[in-house]
Amino acid sequence: MLQQTQVSTVIGYFDRFIKRFPTVQSLASAPETDVLRHWEGLGYYRRARQLHLAAQQIVDVHQGVLPQTTEGLQALPGIGRYTAGAIASIAFDIAAPIVEANTARLYSRLIGMRAPIALSNSQRRLWDFAANITPRKSPGEFNQALMEVGSLICTPREPNCKQCPVRNLCATYEHGLQEVIPAAGKKTVYEDVVEIAVVIKNRDQYLLRRCGAKERWAGLWDFPRFSVPKDHHAELQDNVENSERLVTEEIQSNYGLKLSPPQHSRTIKHAVTKYRITLHVWQATTAKRALKTSSGQETSWLNKAEMADLPLCVTGRKIARQL
Ligand code: SF4
Repeated sequence: MLQQTQVSTVIGYFDRFIKRFPTVQSLASAPETDVLRHWEGLGYYRRARQLHLAAQQIVDVHQGVLPQTTEGLQALPGIGRYTAGAIASIAFDIAAPIVEANTARLYSRLIGMRAPIALSNSQRRLWDFAANITPRKSPGEFNQALMEVGSLICTPREPNCKQCPVRNLCATYEHGLQEVIPAAGKKTVYEDVVEIAVVIKNRDQYLLRRCGAKERWAGLWDFPRFSVPKDHHAELQDNVENSERLVTEEIQSNYGLKLSPPQHSRTIKHAVTKYRITLHVWQATTAKRALKTSSGQETSWLNKAEMADLPLCVTGRKIARQL
């Protein structure tokens, strides 16, 4: 949970997750839907699916016991070199190195490395450095201490060198290069995306679909949603009502449903990884429930209470709360 996410955000999720899945066996035997529902809101859902797979592998292959070597840990789904090193050193007192965002910055400054951290040569240098300095005694405490120094003292901007316990060893401090090292990596290029979600109601139920394996929110549920081709973006910006025909046609061709004239209800802006998404939400009713889906996607008609138990994508939950 802590990968790419701050501790303060994780605490509530962690407590609820551990209460529902107190043992590796309970996690391994849970349906994926249940695991995703308890992860909902944390993002990066691949982590949840991999944790679930790892639990199954631990039960099936390792008799329910976490492997106690870095190689054994790295063979589990979702565990890379850093996570394996962190578990091995902190939980099993093994002298395994770690390099993550905070220690990468700290190490690159200590050794005065001018190349960007993300380059493979740089990564090799950082891992070699980490392996050389990791002690046999209390490696877990050592690794945690360095992560703390990286996050609290050797900050990306204006590091607090005066308070730094390792400044006498630091090449960057010696040469006054704190604003130069680490070198700036590539800037994320954001892509503007316009999408439409359609809330389709039949009596007291709504049509939902499960996102496919290759979709942004694989495994989670969402209202029918489609992308608006780029050449329609300007037209929609002038007047969102212009998309009424698009909504009707998309739903007819993807679900075989004839809608009552759809109404635009709201627009949600949100960002996911490199995408800046403008989501126009439309509402409509239909008299018919039988669907004709060509892609074999999983769909379901659900009332509000049933939706509460299902893992929804972040905008799906926002829409569901306002129904
Ligand atoms: S002396 Fe400054 S730049 Fe060097 S490791 Fe410490 S905080 Fe970072």
